[in-house]
Amino acid sequence: MDMQYPVFTAEMKKTHKLLIPNMAPVQFRILAAAMEHEGYNVELLGNCGSHVAEEGLRYVHNDTCYPALLVIGQFLDALESGKYDPAHTALIITQTGGGCRASNYIFLLRKALARAGYGQIPVLSLNFSGLEKGNSLPMTVPFARMLLAAIYYGDLLAALRAQTEPYEENAGDAERLQGKWLDSICSQIRSGKGYSQREMRRTMPRIAAEFAAIPVDRSRKKVKVGVVGEIYVKYSPLGNNDLEKFLASQDCEVNLPGLMGFVQYCAYNISETAQLYGGTFFEKHISDVVLWYIGRMEKVIISALRDNGYHAPLPFRELIHQADGIIGRGNKMGEGWLLTAEMVELVRAGYENIICAQPFGCLPNHICGKGMINKIREVYPTANIAPIDYDPSATRVNQENRIKLMLAVGRERLEEQSAPEQKPAAQMTVIHGGVKRGKQGSGGKEQKEREHRIAG
Ligand code: SF4
Repeated sequence: MDMQYPVFTAEMKKTHKLLIPNMAPVQFRILAAAMEHEGYNVELLGNCGSHVAEEGLRYVHNDTCYPALLVIGQFLDALESGKYDPAHTALIITQTGGGCRASNYIFLLRKALARAGYGQIPVLSLNFSGLEKGNSLPMTVPFARMLLAAIYYGDLLAALRAQTEPYEENAGDAERLQGKWLDSICSQIRSGKGYSQREMRRTMPRIAAEFAAIPVDRSRKKVKVGVVGEIYVKYSPLGNNDLEKFLASQDCEVNLPGLMGFVQYCAYNISETAQLYGGTFFEKHISDVVLWYIGRMEKVIISALRDNGYHAPLPFRELIHQADGIIGRGNKMGEGWLLTAEMVELVRAGYENIICAQPFGCLPNHICGKGMINKIREVYPTANIAPIDYDPSATRVNQENRIKLMLAVGRERLEEQSAPEQKPAAQMTVIHGGVKRGKQGSGGKEQKEREHRIAG
């Protein structure tokens, strides 16, 4: 049976407020500014707490993906708050266009809205796959460029804060600087500026240099933790129970690989699918064009980070080879091979302690995340990876205890690395029987001869 649903019309830009679920707080704030530039009246939702999941559970089957349950719960919780006029409110949701259920959240949302009595509220789709024709966010080349720039600025600000904050001498410096630049970039983007490659080349090194000027003390080593997983629970504080804050409270430096990696992965997969299963010449090569364009921006962010002494992610063309020999690139459902590649990249970059965030109901991530852990450990024995499940019934305390166990191993290794090298007794320089014993090894023979002479 065909389901009838309201469509978001061009006129509604002026009359409706568009609510955005908050997945990656920094990146999404700039994305919201890009939408404001296009004339939309938007609001990034900030409601969280257990009642969001409860609201989701009321309208979505409990065996559906946890991210869908939370996104839908967050929308319904906002609508129930009475803050928004249902006659002048619309919602926007992403569709990846892949084979995963993320492409179908929109139908679950519409069904939930109808059941909750909000059937008149239109839902707009944000996708790059030609889905929801006539009801998707209209895309122009400048708007797409603006969205890409928004993601890169967000990735840069998130990475700089994450690598500065744990070491700052004056608490709050990195957060304040991030806030300052977020305000500045959002206002530039709102007025249609700041997103060209030339402007990014000028602005990004300035941002990184300002972060590098924050007084820090890097002599106290922190446990370095990488976070990978399903995209929503990886980034969303609502989805992962404020994971980043928890790790900060445990004295860690956190590395959350950027959101752009996922965009590049989605772009790459279009051509990979055509190469594997057949497709037109256009489909086989469209990814090259998109990745070439993104790659030019990628160079800017990588050198802004590296030139200012920060760790930078690998270029995507190198990232795709990180999982070679572990998982094939035909694994494209969910985060697919990218999840494995990111774990390997993190281990090789020194972020050997990894949290693999897994939502309930997510088969692809259990295969490409949890399923790859043993294989990764075989190749990289120092990898210390903990898969953590997120679902409505998983308790925060349980999740945090499991993370603490993983951190205990990381801390032990860190102490071993930072402890002054313990030399075995035979190698110690000690006064023994009036003879100063030297190191054994190349000088050992010489030392023995000297001792023999003395004894004789
Ligand atoms: S990646 Fe996992 S959580 Fe996300 S839609 Fe697919 S199955 Fe669901």
